[in-house]
Amino acid sequence: MVTLIDNKKSHAIKEIVRHPEKRNRPDSTRLRKPDWIRVKAPGSKAYQKTKEIVKEHNLTTVCEEAGCPNIGECWEQAHATMMIMGEICTRACAFCNVRTGLPLALDKEEPNKVADAVAKLELKHVVITSVDRDDLADGGADHFAKVIGAIRTATPCTTIEILTPDFLKKEGALETVVSAKPDVFNHNLETVPRLYLDIRPGARYFHSIRLLQKVKELDPEMFTKSGIMVGLGEERKEVMQLMDDLRCADVDFITIGQYLQPTLKHAAIDRFWTPDEFKSIETVAYAKGFLQASCTPLTRSSHHAGDDFAKLRAARAAYFA
Ligand code: SF4
Repeated sequence: MVTLIDNKKSHAIKEIVRHPEKRNRPDSTRLRKPDWIRVKAPGSKAYQKTKEIVKEHNLTTVCEEAGCPNIGECWEQAHATMMIMGEICTRACAFCNVRTGLPLALDKEEPNKVADAVAKLELKHVVITSVDRDDLADGGADHFAKVIGAIRTATPCTTIEILTPDFLKKEGALETVVSAKPDVFNHNLETVPRLYLDIRPGARYFHSIRLLQKVKELDPEMFTKSGIMVGLGEERKEVMQLMDDLRCADVDFITIGQYLQPTLKHAAIDRFWTPDEFKSIETVAYAKGFLQASCTPLTRSSHHAGDDFAKLRAARAAYFA
């Protein structure tokens, strides 16, 4: 009993340290997970090897920071998504488990460290994401470009997918990142516009749509991708409208997964979408013209990203054949 109380206490302290802005929020309710939210427990030898490489290079991964449910499966296949520019984010989204606060200075060695880890993990396709860096004049665009450049030099055959912040009010930032030529440019909308003020208060829905549209204007060959979580209170028809908005921006690939609440201080889960509902919305996505759609309860932007990229390329080739 004593241990239980101690564990609870230390968990609450950790939450406050990671999310000081949420400390005075009342606890939200927690819904019991349905049977279809099942994940592989981490711990295999291959998983441990990935963990060692990540640690050895002193890297941060979104897999760990976001408490991703797929970590056991992904790391067993060496698929780790690197989170660059530190582990402290300048935004405070209501769904996200990444630590909030004032970030540290950029690590100039990070591009080489990331590239070295990608080589060691023998990744054919890598996903690079970052925290939001509103404190930097360019939002971290130049650093993103340097990381892409270092990977290209170290492992020229590795395809690169980036999952970026929105670079709100950072003029020229998007152009810098696009000119570094990642293979896939991903920027997540996260939720429907009606919920932005509660769920993603620092962001603007139509700015994010415009960002994705601009990527295609700057480089029509670049694949674009975006994702949302469902279960936050959105309605199906709002998701359909969001899909239309993404198609108007010529986005190629949509991912939709179930929102899972990291702690009781985060947004509550409104409901769990059923696997049939996910299947149905995926069918709609293809009907609306996305080249690729991944809609399942455990879909995350970077889940199966390598296999999905191969399918995406094949879908484009078939479309223009
Ligand atoms: S789905 Fe993405 S974030 Fe989650 S463990 Fe896999 S690679 Fe990491």
